[in-house]
Amino acid sequence: SREEKEWLDDRAKKITEYEEKETRKDFIDDDKIESILQNNRNPEPQRVRDILSKARLLKGLTPEEAAVLLNNENQDLWQEIFETAHQIKQQIYGNRIVLFAPLYISNPCVNNCAYCGFRHSNDSLKEMVLSMEELEKEVQVLTSHGHKRLVIVYGEHPVSDVDFMCKTIEKIYATKDGDNEIRRVNINAAPLFVDEYEKIKEAGIGTYQIFQETYHHETYKRVHPKGSLKSFYKWRLFSLHRAQEAGIDDVAIGALLGLYDWKFEVLGLLYHAMDLEREFGVGPHTISFPRLEPAVNTPFLRNLPYKVSDEDFKKLVAVIRCSVPYTGMILTCRESPKLRKEVIPLGVSQIDAGSNIAIRGYQDAEKEGLENREQFQLADSRPLDDVLYELCEQNYIPSFCTAGYRAGRTGCQFMSFAKEGKVKYFCTPNAILTFKEYLMNYASPKTKMIGEKVINAYLEDFKQEKPQRAEKLREMLNDIEGGKRD
Ligand code: SAM
Ligand code: SF4
Repeated sequence: SREEKEWLDDRAKKITEYEEKETRKDFIDDDKIESILQNNRNPEPQRVRDILSKARLLKGLTPEEAAVLLNNENQDLWQEIFETAHQIKQQIYGNRIVLFAPLYISNPCVNNCAYCGFRHSNDSLKEMVLSMEELEKEVQVLTSHGHKRLVIVYGEHPVSDVDFMCKTIEKIYATKDGDNEIRRVNINAAPLFVDEYEKIKEAGIGTYQIFQETYHHETYKRVHPKGSLKSFYKWRLFSLHRAQEAGIDDVAIGALLGLYDWKFEVLGLLYHAMDLEREFGVGPHTISFPRLEPAVNTPFLRNLPYKVSDEDFKKLVAVIRCSVPYTGMILTCRESPKLRKEVIPLGVSQIDAGSNIAIRGYQDAEKEGLENREQFQLADSRPLDDVLYELCEQNYIPSFCTAGYRAGRTGCQFMSFAKEGKVKYFCTPNAILTFKEYLMNYASPKTKMIGEKVINAYLEDFKQEKPQRAEKLREMLNDIEGGKRD
């Protein structure tokens, strides 16, 4: 429409002006990344082992050191890399896995990303924007399953501008029904200007998440055609720097795997994390590593020269874990149940579950033909309760905790807290408490049974280590049994 075109032109003009004025230097040097990868090929086993020893000190790795691990070709050494990644994860996060669900609010989009089902030129997409009533219904379905944390998602379009986003965030927090409530709303949406991020912060979001998709400039240009807002590389690269400027101190980065060489993307993510840390004293709160999935009427996805295999996927997760030990890592339902089970131990701290990414997908879950409202297709469509059961079987403690964020442990505060090794002593008891709430209110009988076993086993261990805290935790669990919440 004419209004849509006007909005697009106006925004493109403002972004061009911003890019001209931005004094920050593009920190992704493609030639440098390629040469780091080239110069560290076929590493000596001793070099790999020395780097793993450094990783175990939880000090993180340089891009050169990460490149050595990425280039390792010795199978036995890969086992050592996987074991190191697992150890690091256990040391910092313990057995905790944080659960969330995605909530897609609108799919109209002015951009034409070659890989995305929401792209403007996709005639097979059914364009939809949730009304406030439909949004409320989606939240009710999610909270009735036990969810407390959401990531909300929008296409980039005047119908989902910043004021609309704020309205939807407020609606989600206001949708309460007894114990059923969302306690943390994160966002995955297009880049904004600083004053727009300020409005979003004011509305009470947790993390703002933006994926660079690919850090490789030439590929970025190819998959994000000129004329679209997404074609501005620098605008997107510094989007989370602007979010930080606006006071949003939990920001989340990611790369969409399958567009270019996965090893290049891992180094791109590390440079991104380093630049945020250099400027703001704190790196990203989480890193995501979504792989490309099939999407309705999207031929680009049929023949991907850089498709990432399951084996390489595991390798990159382990190398990221060794390189940035304190950063959360998110694994989504894009991956199959079998692969998720194998990848979680390599460093993942957050997963989604019971997810539906069609617009109005939760209330319409029983209906046929939702594909043309989806951005892409998920490989793990199990209900939340089934995923929790499986986590417990593997001795993980599912967490719905949102306390850290509400107690002000975000950004730098969270990082120094994490670096003092306190995550385990605060976050695991909080995980236990929120999981207990789940077991009391939402669990199936079999999940309740196995979940109680996991909690009791943890309490026994905790009693040996910190008897007083364990006693306090026991009292709080009793309170929850008596009906107390949050
Ligand atoms: N429109 C906003 C943007 O592009 O930043 C919001 C996010 S978009 C709806 C969410 C993310 O989904 C994208 O950043 C991209 O990484 C991912 N995505 C897009 N197409 C995909 C596909 N075919 N398979 C897997 N992930 C995809
Ligand atoms: Fe739009 Fe985001 Fe999809 Fe690109 S990835 S077409 S910007 S929804």
